[in-house]
Amino acid sequence: MSECIFCAIASGTAPASLVYEDDVAVGFLDLFPVHKGHTLIVPRTHVADLLDCPPDVAGHLMAVAQRLAPRVMRVAGGTGFNVWTANGAAAGQEVFHLHLHVLPRFDEDAFGLRFPAGYPKEADRSGLDTLAAQIRRLE
Ligand SMILES: [Zn+2]
Repeated sequence: MSECIFCAIASGTAPASLVYEDDVAVGFLDLFPVHKGHTLIVPRTHVADLLDCPPDVAGHLMAVAQRLAPRVMRVAGGTGFNVWTANGAAAGQEVFHLHLHVLPRFDEDAFGLRFPAGYPKEADRSGLDTLAAQIRRLE
């Protein structure tokens, strides 16, 4: 994985503007920020996405996000923030090394999820119950 940019940042061999680091995770400012303060948090060890990540590391990344978000907002502004991770190309993942985004948000900031035409439309309960049962049955 020598060509992974986030591994290179985590090991200090590629430049980044670090905001946090410990033995497990590194936080740095996104080079292509959606808004000022847009921060990425990555595990030091290469994992492709959330499903590839040990649960204790995934939990640690979220704890780092919880710690950093108020600090990012104090410096960059923002009255709210998103924490999210894209898993797979269909979800918008572009760098295949797990990363959490911490994105400060502002009122009327013109960024958001795009919902399909016709949304919201309430689902029927029996369909939800059937789907939920299918999910519960899987290990
Ligand atoms: Zn990597």
